[in-house]
Amino acid sequence: MVRSIVSLDPEAIAADAIALAELNGGTGHEQVRIDWLGRRLADAAGSRHVDDAGNLVWTFGPAPYRLAVLAHVDDVFGEATERGVTERDGWLCGPGIGDNAIAVATAVAVCEHARPGPLAVVFTVGEEGLGGLRGAHHACRELAPEAVLALEGHGSDRVFTDAVGSLRVRFTVTGPGGHSWWDRGRPSAVHALVSLLHAMTATAPAPLSVNVGLIDGGTGVNAIAGQASAAVEWRATDQTALDRQEAALADLTVSPGLELRAERLDRRPAGSVPVSHPLVAAVLRARRKVGLPEVTGDGSTDANAALAAGIPAVALGCCEGENMHAPNERIRADSIGTGAGQLRAVLAEIMERNP
Ligand SMILES: [Zn+2]
Repeated sequence: MVRSIVSLDPEAIAADAIALAELNGGTGHEQVRIDWLGRRLADAAGSRHVDDAGNLVWTFGPAPYRLAVLAHVDDVFGEATERGVTERDGWLCGPGIGDNAIAVATAVAVCEHARPGPLAVVFTVGEEGLGGLRGAHHACRELAPEAVLALEGHGSDRVFTDAVGSLRVRFTVTGPGGHSWWDRGRPSAVHALVSLLHAMTATAPAPLSVNVGLIDGGTGVNAIAGQASAAVEWRATDQTALDRQEAALADLTVSPGLELRAERLDRRPAGSVPVSHPLVAAVLRARRKVGLPEVTGDGSTDANAALAAGIPAVALGCCEGENMHAPNERIRADSIGTGAGQLRAVLAEIMERNP
C-alpha cells in the first residue's frame, strides 16, 4: 500500500531540502549529496545502493519495476557559489533550493514510510549543464521500469508531457592571425565566426530555437584574430528537427586560410507521451485530488532520457517557485505540502492499479 498513516510534514520536508541545498552539488560534484542521502535513509524501508553512474538507487520489492521516480541531486551552481537558504515572508530562498533540493526531499518524505510494491526511486547525477542526463540514461537502461516520473522542484502548475530536446555545439575557428594594418586582408577568425553565427541565428528553421550562449576570441584590438569560439544551443520538442540540424553542421565552411571545428558538447533527446496515455491519466487524476491544475506543458528533465529509451515518462513539479538557476532562486513554503500530497496521490494511482 502506498497510503501511509504517517502524515507528510512540510516543515520536515523543508528542513531536508535546506540541508541538501547547503551542500555543494554542482553537476559532476554530486558525491557529497549522495552520501548525505545514504545516511538520511539509513533506517528507511526498501534497499539502497549506489550504481555505476553514481546514482543512489532505492528499490522496493524486486524488479520488474512498475515505476521509477527520478529526482536529480545536482544543480547549476559551482563550488564558488556561496550556499545557504534563508526563510522570509513565506519563501525559502537560496541556490538550488527549488531545482532540485525540494524535489529530492519530497521523494524522501513520501517514500520513507511507504510500502509501495515494485517501485524504484533514483536520486540521479548529471541532469544539469553538460551532464548529458548521465544518471537518468544509466538508470533507465539498468532498471527498465514500465514508466518513469521525473521530479522537479519548480513548476507544480503543470505536468510536463513533452520533453524539450537540445543539441549543444562548440564552434572554434582558427587562422594565421597578424597585424591589423600590415597584414590587412588576412582572414580573421572573429570575422568568420561572427558571419557563421549570424547565418545560424538568422535562419534557425521552425520548430528549432537557437541561442549563442558563449563567445570569445582574439587577442587585441589591433590584431587580426587567430582564434575565436562560441557555444551554441538548439532546442526543439521534435527530435527529427534536431537530427537535421546536427547533420547540417557537416556542411558548414569558413573562408580559405581558416579552419573550423565543430565539437558536440551535449545532446538531450526530445520526446513526448500522448495526453491519452494511462500514465498521464493517472497523474491528472492524482492532481485533481490535491487541487492542482490538470494542465500539460513541456520541459527539459530526466524524463527525456526515459522517453529516448522508449519508456513512457512525465515530469512533475513539486512546488511553486521562481528565479530558477539564479542565486536568488526561491520556492513558496506553503506549496511544499501540496507537492508532497501530489506525489503520494500519483504513487497511489499507479502502484495500486490492478495489474
Ligand atoms: Zn531540475
